[in-house]
This record gives sequence, structure tokens and C-alpha cells, in this order.
Amino acid sequence: MKNCPVCGKEIQERTTKCYSCHSEFTYGKKGRIKYIKRSEDIINERRMEIEKKRYEALPKKVCITCGNTVREGEYYCQLCGEEDAYNGGSTYFEE
Ligand SMILES: [Zn+2]
Ligand SMILES: [Zn+2]
Repeated sequence: MKNCPVCGKEIQERTTKCYSCHSEFTYGKKGRIKYIKRSEDIINERRMEIEKKRYEALPKKVCITCGNTVREGEYYCQLCGEEDAYNGGSTYFEE
């Protein structure tokens, strides 16, 4: 038995996951823990993925100045700074 390097609870030899704090590990050649992914990082990653999906699902328009894709709720074009880029933008056509 080993102890989780994050929370200190006992973990199985060579387990890749701590069932107490949900951190994940990878092992080096000598069986030493090489990389630790803390549960906070895992949660943050998931949150960012959800956030990204939500953003990508927003209605899109095309900036009339530079042709950049503008999402609903964006007041400025992130590329050229065009004001009211969404409301003033032209219809986005899927390729
Ligand atoms: Zn742990
Ligand atoms: Zn633009």
C-alpha cells in the first residue's frame, strides 16, 4: 500500500486514481508516481470543456468588417474591434 500524495489516504499500488480525492497519477519506469493531476484540475478542465461547448453552440454571425465569426452576446468583434458586431453582422452560413 502507498499513500496518496495529495490527500494522504491509502491507495493501491500502481492505481491511477485516488478514490478519496479523485486525483489521478501516472507512473514512471521505477513505479514512482511521475505526474499528479489534482481533482481541482480535473474539475476545471471539465468546466472549461462545458464552457467551450456552450460557447460554440451560441448563434453565430459574420463580422461585416473583417469576416470573423461573432457569437451572440459579443458586443465587439474580437478580431477587428467592430462595435455591435453581432447585431450588425451578416448571417453565418455553415460550410
Ligand atoms: Zn487522494
Ligand atoms: Zn471584425
